[in-house]
Amino acid sequence: MRLSRFFLPAMKETPAEAQIASHRLMLRAGMIRQAAAGIYSWLPLGLRVLRRIEAIVREEQDRTGALEIEMLFGPTHEEQVTDIFRQTIKSYRDLPKNLYQIQWKFRDEVRPRFGVMRGREFLMKDNYSFDLDEAGARHSYNKMFVAYLRTFARMGLRAIPMRADTGPIGGDLSHEFIVLAPTGESAVYYDHGFEEIAIPGADIDYDADLQPVVDQWTRLYAATDDMHDPDAAPREGLVSGRGIEVGHIFFFGTKYSAPMGAVVQGPDGETITVQMGSYGIGVSRLVGAIIEASHDAAGIVWPESVAPFDVGLVNLRTDDATCAAAADTLHEQLENAGLAVLHDDTGERAGAKFAKMDLIGLPWQIMVGPRGLKAGVVELKNRASGVREELSPEAAVARLAGRGR
Ligand code: ATP
Ligand code: MG
Repeated sequence: MRLSRFFLPAMKETPAEAQIASHRLMLRAGMIRQAAAGIYSWLPLGLRVLRRIEAIVREEQDRTGALEIEMLFGPTHEEQVTDIFRQTIKSYRDLPKNLYQIQWKFRDEVRPRFGVMRGREFLMKDNYSFDLDEAGARHSYNKMFVAYLRTFARMGLRAIPMRADTGPIGGDLSHEFIVLAPTGESAVYYDHGFEEIAIPGADIDYDADLQPVVDQWTRLYAATDDMHDPDAAPREGLVSGRGIEVGHIFFFGTKYSAPMGAVVQGPDGETITVQMGSYGIGVSRLVGAIIEASHDAAGIVWPESVAPFDVGLVNLRTDDATCAAAADTLHEQLENAGLAVLHDDTGERAGAKFAKMDLIGLPWQIMVGPRGLKAGVVELKNRASGVREELSPEAAVARLAGRGR
């Protein structure tokens, strides 16, 4: 993509209500524009990130065997999905089932704030599991627990599952997944041992017993302020900080299925009221959460897995025919190597181009200038480490090949 043809309306002055880094950076980088309080239009750069996050969420859901459906616009969908269930599923043979959607929600939040983190419209993945008994429901819950660990890790996030309130339903099957960030809305307390637990691999067998994995992640103390119990917390190695809720999983038994008559016929003709759970991920909130967890003074630092483009290619002298030809060739070669390229072919001065690339946070930058070309080199910069290196254009392509989407 040539920057001259792209739509990147960067904003110089951010409004005063943009209090936190992710909100300011998303506005400045031209990812979103506010349409009304808590409602945003997603511009091309922001939408590309949102789509990548959504794709990771979908892949990890599909891996568990969950099935995607689409429901009407709404604030939450427990009733609607229970209704679909009771109209269509009649036999124990059809269970278990787990249905999900990735859909815009509307909630008239009293205090929309922090940009996409607490919007009135937001994109959520929500699913609903249906099982014959509590043991089955626990397995469905554990599947989502593991899928969430993988989902957030793939986005470069370490999300800690924290016990959440189960209300009148009771039990231990409710967890919020919290990403640590100083600007998070909840105070959190957790055992520092969380930093060392391994994330389950892509080869995890979702039909196997997942309880050992879940036990490993729930054995250590972790709580948000409303669940925090200083007496139960460890004396040593307790870390306190702030966090952002990016997901929530919840078993609610027959809360909806009993009153709504969501039942199936069992093997002996008996009537079984199904056990349900629901599982949410804040897809649009994640865009902000990732930025909160990964930025510096110059701008966003995207993890490679969610970056809007893999490489920013900067032509430092668009008025120089040799530079333009070299940049065009590199652009083509990088794309042929499977990388998504944003090629700054505009006439802006070099300093402004560098600042823009750092602001939008693409994982790699390649600078093409007349002096380097004379010596047969371009400059490759890693956004996260800041490490720069001079190498031939071919070597730069070879270095990045295979890192694309
Ligand atoms: P919160 O406690 O932050 O208000 P919630 O508990 O009401 O969230 P859930 O119903 O559990 O939210 O929704 C699932 C996920 O959707 C949350 O974990 C969060 O990531 C996201 N989410 C909820 N409300 C919003 C919102 N107003 N804007 C953006 N994302 C949201
Ligand atoms: Mg919640």
